[in-house]
Amino acid sequence: MFYSNNKIKNSIDDYNFLYKRMRIPVKSIYRNQPAVNPIIKYIMSIKGVKSAKANIITGKVLILFDEDIVSDIYIERQINIYMKKSKISHDSNIIKINNINEETSLPISFENIKPPLHNSMQVPWHTMDKNEIKTVFNTDLKYGLTGKMASKKIKELGLNVLSKKKRTSLISKILKSLNDFSVKLLLGVSAFSFILGQIPDAIAILSIAFVETILGTIQQHKAEKSIYSLKNILVHRATVLRNKRKVCIDAKYLVPGDIILVQSGDKVPADARIIECNDLKTTEASLTGESTPVIKSTDLCSKYTELGSRCNMLFTGTNIICGTGKAIVVATAMNTEIGKIAAMLQNIKPQATPLQTKMQNFTTKLTKICLASCALIGFGALLAGKSLTQVLTMSVSFSIGALPESLPAIVTVAMALGVQRMSKENVIVRKLNSLETLGSTNIICCDKTGTLTMNEMTVRKIYTDKCLYNITGSGYSPEGNISLIEGKPSKESSLERLLAVGVICSNATLVKRGDKWMAEGDPTEGALITAAHKLNLDENMLRNLNPRIKEIPFDSTRRFMTVITEGSKGKIAFCKGALDRVIQKCKTVYEDGAERLLTSTDKKRLMSIGDKMGEKALRILGFAYKKINHKSAENIDDNFVFLGITGMEDPPKEGVKDCIKKCHRAGIKVVMITGDYKNTAAAIGRELGLLTDGLVMSGNELDDISKEELSRKIRKVQIFARTSPEQKHRIVKAFKRFGYVVAMAGDGVNDASAIKEANIGIAMGNNGSDIAKDAAAITLVDDDFCTIVKAIEEGRTVNNNIKNSMKYLLAGNLGEIIAIAAASAVGGVAPLISMQILWTNLISESILGSALTTEPSGEDVMKSAPLRRDEPLISKKLGLQIARRGIGIGLTTFAIFEGSLLLGASLSKARTLAFSNLICSQLLNLYDCRRNKTTLPNKYINIGTASSMAMLLGIIYLPFINPYFGTQALTLLDWAAITGMCMIGRI
Ligand code: ATP
Repeated sequence: MFYSNNKIKNSIDDYNFLYKRMRIPVKSIYRNQPAVNPIIKYIMSIKGVKSAKANIITGKVLILFDEDIVSDIYIERQINIYMKKSKISHDSNIIKINNINEETSLPISFENIKPPLHNSMQVPWHTMDKNEIKTVFNTDLKYGLTGKMASKKIKELGLNVLSKKKRTSLISKILKSLNDFSVKLLLGVSAFSFILGQIPDAIAILSIAFVETILGTIQQHKAEKSIYSLKNILVHRATVLRNKRKVCIDAKYLVPGDIILVQSGDKVPADARIIECNDLKTTEASLTGESTPVIKSTDLCSKYTELGSRCNMLFTGTNIICGTGKAIVVATAMNTEIGKIAAMLQNIKPQATPLQTKMQNFTTKLTKICLASCALIGFGALLAGKSLTQVLTMSVSFSIGALPESLPAIVTVAMALGVQRMSKENVIVRKLNSLETLGSTNIICCDKTGTLTMNEMTVRKIYTDKCLYNITGSGYSPEGNISLIEGKPSKESSLERLLAVGVICSNATLVKRGDKWMAEGDPTEGALITAAHKLNLDENMLRNLNPRIKEIPFDSTRRFMTVITEGSKGKIAFCKGALDRVIQKCKTVYEDGAERLLTSTDKKRLMSIGDKMGEKALRILGFAYKKINHKSAENIDDNFVFLGITGMEDPPKEGVKDCIKKCHRAGIKVVMITGDYKNTAAAIGRELGLLTDGLVMSGNELDDISKEELSRKIRKVQIFARTSPEQKHRIVKAFKRFGYVVAMAGDGVNDASAIKEANIGIAMGNNGSDIAKDAAAITLVDDDFCTIVKAIEEGRTVNNNIKNSMKYLLAGNLGEIIAIAAASAVGGVAPLISMQILWTNLISESILGSALTTEPSGEDVMKSAPLRRDEPLISKKLGLQIARRGIGIGLTTFAIFEGSLLLGASLSKARTLAFSNLICSQLLNLYDCRRNKTTLPNKYINIGTASSMAMLLGIIYLPFINPYFGTQALTLLDWAAITGMCMIGRI
């Protein structure tokens, strides 16, 4: 999407005070619109020129330029040089006024000029004050745009999407299929036969080439379609202020002037100028290649600040790794910085997966061997006195029959079908090679919250001021009671204080959709607000009485969040977070209406209360506050007053327990790597059957052990708790080092680097952070752990289907080679003529071979151990199976041919028998190669078999086809012989 030139004109004009302007006469454009585009394009290419507008009525160009970069004299000189070089004669280019129509005589419209891609970004937003930008876009920094204004802008500027790469046209697909080696060979032979006057042969071979091309095109089209259609399933969402409300919309509807809100884990949805931020950091590797985090602020930058150093700007596609921010969108779609490089990225060809490369290499080797043998056989036949045409036709058809050239295409089709089946199971594959790896995955590492559990928090227990409370109710509904279960009554003010801190220290809001209450924002914070409502605390009043002046947002490394407010009682800091972290910051505790010293015994006691809550699978949070003394220079994080503890329930997801069992049966280890408390993680682990006889190790313990000890222990660990993002990454790396093929599933920012490190990164598509999704190779649309197991099942199925197709095709090819070679060895008469070989090749390779890739996965797939990753393309077992079947097919075809000749049959009948035997043996082979014979019938295989049989019968019994294939009608006895031979060939 481009901004139309009108818009560029407007925005540049609005900023023309920043640039110098000059109006230069260019005679060649006077009343000559066709001359405008090249000259404007040229002027725009001069460094420092910001815009150029032509007026064909006056014959002048208005140029805005940055005088710090370029001078007017230089621009004028460059234009003169250009005019001379392009030999534009002014006079000759002038179109006489009476020759032009009304339209062309209008002042030049910007619509007609292709805009420089990123003109809008040439406005130095980073140097401008937020109020100036606000005026440009006519927006409101507090309330954002109205829906009406946004729709108008969308109509003018288009959607916020990078222009999509055009899909391959039908013509290029056909040309690609025509470029196929076997098609080229067939076309060559057909042309040769035509020259030699063998018209029926030429036509027959040409028709086979035609069918091969059509099939190739259909295969390509199906593969592309299934992969392409998945790209749009995942919606990138953005939080924006519209109509004075905070709403979450599809990022493609963002327009310049929108006020967006970003937080840790988000992917920036458009280029934007920051107007507010708290501890905001981004990684801009996608744009600048630099992976170190960039600290963001609202400070103005100088005009020459490089892209990577524009601290007050957010750029599309970069990731927020920490903090929160509010920004005004200044560019969308192709006008963003990433838009500039999007075109380049689109031209990068997708890389072949390791399996595709292996298969390509294997096929190339086999092709070379086949062609060499063909040349030898052909040479022998020439010496034996056969004509050049006969030899050529025979060798080409023989080589086509022997070559496994369709194997690489079958890998692609199998993968494309796998991707399609996975999408139906809610798995979006972003990297094709992950399909291969899925089949070999032998360990799933996953975070807890949101992956194994529902990430729907409810506060169940509160401990404060020596009292323990129980809380009833479900989800985020404010209905429920808080009742005292331990301690003295009359401590309600402490309880109120604690829950008030929970509200003040939260960014989430509760909304009612239909009958259901939901938390918008962090579920942990949603649960705290719900608990506060159960005590009838007024959320809005609390926030209004304690206006925030600063926030240090929660992050998984620090594990706590601080908010500083300034109200009538001065500055107060509130903090909530992991219990151990909060206790560390506290010097005193609030009890019996006063603050007293927090002793080490108190700390132990509080930790053990937390431990007990953890044992009940509750997530533990500590709360504290402090008054900020203006005069003292104390650290903001020290000397807090401890208030109490909350324990939140986060129920395990339905079905996860069974899926973990299924993984164990399939030889897949499941390990939880969580940032949560050891006891909480262990209790959930036990509940899910994940923690059996293994160890629970904390992040600190992990840091303390040596590499050797880790290598000894790691196989026994089932839960890693209290881990930081770095430790999660280290664990995945360690598992990989010890030979595991690791799938890492997670949803949070804290999981992203482990997801990236894993052999297969898996992100939750629904509630997962954009960072996790970006790092992952596959995304689960339904956020369900069980979908990972389905994905592995599919990965295994794709691998099996590819192996079975190989088994089927190579055994068939070997059978043909053996039959032809054996017959030549004994009598020199070929058992099959070219057309028969070509037909067998077309039917068995192109049609039935692909049908095997459509096999669905079955129950048994998850009952065997994962595939070995280092397994060769053709294992010993597979090689033996291919050899046995190939020999069976080859020898029976040879036997039926020679046997019938011996019994006095004509050559044409013997060949018909051999041809029918070959096709029927391959059909039996097809069913034997079905991995999953026990499950439902496969309609593609059944239809393929039925049509193949029908065509064979047509070739045999339709007299007008007989001459092309050298066939004749067979008797029932012949069919009995074929059946017998096929059964023998199967043994
Ligand atoms: P997982 O890694 O399995 O998703 P997690 O989500 O529990 O686990 P973190 O998000 O790193 O891991 O949370 C670690 C701890 O930080 C929690 O146990 C809790 O005590 C605390 N915590 C979580 N969310 C917040 C929050 N919004 N504010 C303050 N503290 C929080």
